[in-house]
Amino acid sequence: MAYIQFLGAAGTVTGSKHLINTSFENEGKKGIQVLIDCGLFQGQKEWRERNWKELPIPAHEIDAVILTHAHLDHCGWIPRLVKEGYKGPIYATAATIDLCGIILPDSGHLQEEDAAFYNKIKKSKHDPALPLYTFDEAEECMRYFQVVRLQETMKLSPEFSFRFVPAAHILGSCMVEVSLAANGQSRQLLFSGDIGRVRDQNVAPGKVVHSGPSPGEIADVLVMESTYGNRVHPHTDPRPELAKVIRQTVERGGSIVVPAFAVERTQKFVFMLKELMEAGQIPKLPVFCDSPMAIRAVEIYLKHESDYTEEARGLIQKYGSPLEWPGFTFASTAEESKKINEAHYPSIIISSSGMATGGRILHHLAQRLSDPKNTILFIGFQAPGTRGFIIKSGAKEVKIFGDFVQIRAQIAVFEQFSDHADPPELLSWLRTFKQKPRITYLVHGEPAASTQLRDEIVKELGWKVEVAEWLEKENIQ
Ligand SMILES: [Zn+2]
Repeated sequence: MAYIQFLGAAGTVTGSKHLINTSFENEGKKGIQVLIDCGLFQGQKEWRERNWKELPIPAHEIDAVILTHAHLDHCGWIPRLVKEGYKGPIYATAATIDLCGIILPDSGHLQEEDAAFYNKIKKSKHDPALPLYTFDEAEECMRYFQVVRLQETMKLSPEFSFRFVPAAHILGSCMVEVSLAANGQSRQLLFSGDIGRVRDQNVAPGKVVHSGPSPGEIADVLVMESTYGNRVHPHTDPRPELAKVIRQTVERGGSIVVPAFAVERTQKFVFMLKELMEAGQIPKLPVFCDSPMAIRAVEIYLKHESDYTEEARGLIQKYGSPLEWPGFTFASTAEESKKINEAHYPSIIISSSGMATGGRILHHLAQRLSDPKNTILFIGFQAPGTRGFIIKSGAKEVKIFGDFVQIRAQIAVFEQFSDHADPPELLSWLRTFKQKPRITYLVHGEPAASTQLRDEIVKELGWKVEVAEWLEKENIQ
């Protein structure tokens, strides 16, 4: 009997990995094993340590990986899977593959930097500390990627086929419809990946990709994300408040530091800043996008212009490539990054990682957190246990590079930039389903978020909903 096993993003928002095993061995046939997403665990140590554990099945026994999108918590374990012996195809959309081509090597680079740092301060319990995978290993795994177009049906075996449909979360993101056929019966599974926001620019302003997940789905088994299961997004336009925060910081003579995922979120934010500057709502400050992948990320963003909303396309047509805007600097070398650190005039610094778990943002935070003139601006989800979460929660100090840094800068939080649907948006999507799924499993949420969303779906729609547990196996009847 076929089953799904939740190997990650169960009880937490990171480490997405769901195994489908079609073992029809009792019927004299060998099934296939397919992994939907292969993400990195991030945040609390308890979760990060799982990145070092082997999967319950050997990597070489997995036949295929199907990837929903290029966020690290969905794709960041792929180089490790390959390192452990996986040699099969990794199916993804063209934009997802382009993004993985910069995100995975960057992740390898960060792993190497972390290991080198712990070896220097000798604070790791592992001696020597090793990277989970290296830059080179991450580049090497790119040869396993294969492009699958949206809506194209891919048959992996007589009983297993799948199709990508839009998820409207980030560039290239999609949901995966899986069809399993056995004994003359077929079963539809739907893996939502991360689900984007509604089709309304006023409710979700600055939305870059086409909004709204694919409507009218049919699924016997639905595996759905629940990141914002217990929070409703503010439905106000963030731009006036954002402009105010920036103006006030400049009046104090401070700078604005923005931890942001280097791809998509940074581009979206940069376009919004340009609009505010052109409209005279904020001064024309220098803007630094400090990420080793910032330049390539913009190029990928412009290459896939056709995937964007009218609004985003209009901005690209109006203002052209951000790489050529006066006053906007996309740093790529360590030297250029250092120069930003030394700047003492007000500026806006956008850098990754988005949850301040690593990367160049740490240098900017270490440099500017203790000065009350500055503002740390959060525009993305911060998972518990990450530095971003600690800073955002009003802590007095945070550990960076082994030392505690005092937090005296102003903290501003904008939830409107989220690329995740909130409960009313998720429910309105579920209402478009052509039939009730036999069962819905909620993944990719903190326990409080998943259980609240479960209760709401049960109450509103009368569906059977369960919160997935790590390593739990569920039969697909
Ligand atoms: Zn995501």
